[in-house]
Amino acid sequence: MHETTLMQNLIATVMEAVEKHNVTRVNRVVLSVGKLSNALPDALIFAFEALTQGGILQGAELEIEYLPVIARCRACGREYQADGFPIICPDCESKNFTIISGDEVYIKSIDIDCKKE
Ligand SMILES: [Zn+2]
Repeated sequence: MHETTLMQNLIATVMEAVEKHNVTRVNRVVLSVGKLSNALPDALIFAFEALTQGGILQGAELEIEYLPVIARCRACGREYQADGFPIICPDCESKNFTIISGDEVYIKSIDIDCKKE
């Protein structure tokens, strides 16, 4: 399962951050998901809930934010948001482009409660 493997890596990242602080509770994890990543939100949430059972992350809310697809025109160099098809440069109408972002998945932020010193 693509999403399970992905989520295991993401949870490892969260746990690294959690272990550096005196965390008593993780309230929320915000995930940035590129529209080209092929990661299904339902599968991500399911994997998150399954993988956090019994740990410090249990009960934390998983929020998913979508990142737009950004293309760069090969003709004029303009970068533009390419959410629909066909992908056409808004400046010169060239259909020659390179996708420069939109397939990444990463932890954007974590909302935690820390132990008072
Ligand atoms: Zn262009």
